[in-house]
Amino acid sequence: MTVASGVRTDGFLPSPPTEEIVMPQEKLTVSGISIESVPDGWAQAPPGTLLVPPSGSPADWETSGWFEPGGWRFPLGGFLLRTADRLILVDAGTHLHRDHVGWLSVDGEPTFPAAAHHVHAADWATLESGHGEADMGMADIVRPIGDLVRLARAERTEIAPGVLLRLVAGHTPGNCLIEVGEGEDRAFLLGDTAHHPATLVEDGWLDKFDADRDGARKARAQLADELEASGIPAVGAHFDGCRFGRVIRGRDGSRRWELVDLA
Ligand SMILES: [Zn+2]
Repeated sequence: MTVASGVRTDGFLPSPPTEEIVMPQEKLTVSGISIESVPDGWAQAPPGTLLVPPSGSPADWETSGWFEPGGWRFPLGGFLLRTADRLILVDAGTHLHRDHVGWLSVDGEPTFPAAAHHVHAADWATLESGHGEADMGMADIVRPIGDLVRLARAERTEIAPGVLLRLVAGHTPGNCLIEVGEGEDRAFLLGDTAHHPATLVEDGWLDKFDADRDGARKARAQLADELEASGIPAVGAHFDGCRFGRVIRGRDGSRRWELVDLA
């Protein structure tokens, strides 16, 4: 999911002019840790480029209200956490895909040479097995930070007080979400565990970019149950406007995605 100019053959629409690459800034604070979006821009594509709707969806599912009629526009970027004594940039740590590693290095030099880079071991193993060469040159971007990488090997790995890397395999073998905060005062950064809120509140969606589509679908269903029961706000890396939302079950029994009002 790179943004590039010119005619594309993969379903993605041409990138916007640079001056239009301005995304709204979202900021949420949980347990004394602030979470800000760090937008790099956006990409635009017909929804079917990434998603498969539930069977039985109406033929006009791409204009059903979930997506813009002219093509689904979604942000690219990361999130910055400010704890009492650290800055933590969240992007590649959720998983190793080309659109999440872009600034790890520039011209072969690490962008943040003093920073520890946390990645799950299962994604690192996939990279080393050669997948990174195939994913639009990803290995060339990641290789320069090799000495800075700290591999998470557990289901849950605390990388700083109140910041937890939690394995949710499916999108990639080492795909993680980030739990921020403590107890009831938490928020989840989902990365690409869900590309769109529809895949959390409606059954049957598949994501074409999931390495294990069935495993990822089951993991999302479990996550949606947890989000509904707990009321924890969450945001995916590509959710519209980088905005947090909650899974809510209405009186009619159906689920909906309700944006968190940060005003
Ligand atoms: Zn991804």
